[in-house]
Amino acid sequence: MPTTMKAAVLYGIHDMRVEDVPVPQVTSERDVLVRVRSVGVCGSDVHFFERGIIGKYPLRAPTIMGHEAAGDVVEVLDEACGLQPGDRVAIEPGYTCRRCEFCRSGQYNMCRDVVFLAAPPIHGAFAEYVAWPSDFLFKLPDTLSLDEGAMMEPLAVGLWAAKRGGAGPGDSVAILGAGPIGLLTMQSAIAAGATRAVVSDLEAGRLALAAKLGATDTIDASQTDAEASIMELTGGRGVDVAFECAGAVPTLQMALRVARNGGTVQIVGMPAEQHPQMPLYEMINRELDLRGLFRYANCYPPAISLVEAGRIDVASLVTHHFALAETPGAMTFVHERRDGVVKAIINP
Ligand SMILES: [Zn+2]
Ligand SMILES: [Zn+2]
Repeated sequence: MPTTMKAAVLYGIHDMRVEDVPVPQVTSERDVLVRVRSVGVCGSDVHFFERGIIGKYPLRAPTIMGHEAAGDVVEVLDEACGLQPGDRVAIEPGYTCRRCEFCRSGQYNMCRDVVFLAAPPIHGAFAEYVAWPSDFLFKLPDTLSLDEGAMMEPLAVGLWAAKRGGAGPGDSVAILGAGPIGLLTMQSAIAAGATRAVVSDLEAGRLALAAKLGATDTIDASQTDAEASIMELTGGRGVDVAFECAGAVPTLQMALRVARNGGTVQIVGMPAEQHPQMPLYEMINRELDLRGLFRYANCYPPAISLVEAGRIDVASLVTHHFALAETPGAMTFVHERRDGVVKAIINP
């Protein structure tokens, strides 16, 4: 085994360096060493690169970014863990204490002791190797590529959103924002039985992709009044579940208006404002359920099954590939949404 590896380390705003760092050690019996092959560039990586802080996590020390990863198992300490060298795995990027009430009840995304890739001070996966506990690694079937394996992370978010939002058979849903998470939330809602999926976005290319992936109606919000269109498409009723996937206050407010009486608004994106204006009386009188979302729990197995079964297409979202050495440029590429990028993948 080599003792050093290449990694893309974020030092500060717009300062990411690809340099040699030590290969992580497998120390605990639980740990497995994974040779990383595919890592998606997430909005949160780009946010760190642009701002140096995300939510309550500031970048205090140089940190390796990247958390949407898949690779090959190269070293296993516990032979009974069910994995062996050569296995291809998707990495679930947050492992938890496994002991608290939330971990025990299966709601482990609420665990206070989560260790998450690329959430400083924890190093991420824009690197050649990651050491990670075996119970947060998921073996990929031969039919899934490692790029698809990396996409299990954003798909887990989409599946959790569809589940939290309660999208079910015959439901109508609106997806506000057709970025990677919006497109995966849409496909998850359809897989859960939604029969009408209205998608709005400002980019024609993303809407075309949404239509290809199963959207029944697409709305170019740069050209049309999205709220009026959704109401018209639903005969003035509104949708059963409105998903806010743009991470913006105006779309959250719109979601609250286009949800039907007694419907649900599922927040998926993270709006930049913490105290937006909310139509409280309308929410009360129309019995709207506004639901939060934090990552996901128990979503990797269904994510893998749904892609294996051909029910969800993640491959079509992957529009660009970069080598590890090109990671800093990939941050800017994605931030500026160059060349119609939807999901860029780093292949270390
Ligand atoms: Zn992500
Ligand atoms: Zn816990």
